[in-house]
Amino acid sequence: GENFEACGGSRIMVFVRLRPMGKKERENGSRCCVKVLNKRDVYLTEFTNDNDYLRLKRLRVRHFTFDSSFPETTTQREVYSTTTGDLLEAVLEGRNGSVFCYGATGAGKTYTMLGTMENPGVMVLAIKDLFAKVRERSLDGNHTVHLSYLEVYNETVRDLLSPGRPLILREDKQGIVAAGLTQYRAYSTDEVMALLQRGNQNRTTEPTRCNETSSRSHAILQVVVEYKTRDGSKNIISRVGKLSLIDLAGSERAIATDQRTLRSLEGANINRSLLALSSCINALVEGKKHIPYRNSKLTQLLKDSLGGLCNTVMIANISPSNHSFGETQNTLHWADRAKEI
Ligand code: ADP
Ligand code: MG
Repeated sequence: GENFEACGGSRIMVFVRLRPMGKKERENGSRCCVKVLNKRDVYLTEFTNDNDYLRLKRLRVRHFTFDSSFPETTTQREVYSTTTGDLLEAVLEGRNGSVFCYGATGAGKTYTMLGTMENPGVMVLAIKDLFAKVRERSLDGNHTVHLSYLEVYNETVRDLLSPGRPLILREDKQGIVAAGLTQYRAYSTDEVMALLQRGNQNRTTEPTRCNETSSRSHAILQVVVEYKTRDGSKNIISRVGKLSLIDLAGSERAIATDQRTLRSLEGANINRSLLALSSCINALVEGKKHIPYRNSKLTQLLKDSLGGLCNTVMIANISPSNHSFGETQNTLHWADRAKEI
């Protein structure tokens, strides 16, 4: 679509999504400190740190504006079509693109990317849309769709579709690939949701809370679309486009620890991946020659989806609760910077 230009000259599309207040939050006296107006403007209110609910006082209100901001009532489909619809078209034309969900733990990243059976998210809607578009174009040639789904956790890469030993990154003709990663040939949408849900269950969990995905885990779904046809002289023409959909690790600061525990090491690595991602994006949009992809596994894996003729979309997820004020403020500042570069 016209919103996108090649990286190097273009900016990144930045969106903000506010999730609704949860039942538990309402019960524990959370107050809403974020408002989204006119589908663009985000107002963040800081209250006094007073624990007495009745005496909470407004300190100040900050204002941010983005390409598009989604209030808490926004449907999954609206989020998908506004952020990713155009990008999918580009992928069908043989280009690469990526969509990231960024934000603190609990802000709604996984809901936005994966969603639930009843309310499927960007990953599932993108694949659904892709199959519909491929069907429309099936007379012109032959499309094949392959999926891979992997995790980067503590700078270790794992296959979420076929869990086992960590995968090694190798550089080959196609670029940097995770050796042995399952490339799942997909034929229909129905199989995909179940596949992705199962993959998500394979994500690393916190040692203390067995069924909660670790906030330190990055999940990357890559959808590769190959198109083959014959030209007038019966020569085979082919083109390949790749869509990367990324549910990033929580962006909150690593928990402060006195000892050099495993936890702090993991925290440092997460920060390293997120930092590496930020610096790559900065360097790309500023048109720098050297892009520091090598600094983390995440950026190595996304090398071919961030540079060149790629489109990049960032969805910054935020919670409405005043208990998350600090994290929300950090996320909005980050998104604001990403928008300007
Ligand atoms: P994260 O992946 O950023 O840690 P989650 O996506 O797991 O956060 O969201 C935290 C909780 O809030 C989950 O219970 C999720 O179902 C719920 N939630 C998040 N976003 C929405 C939304 N837009 N609408 C309804 N529920 C949401
Ligand atoms: Mg999550």
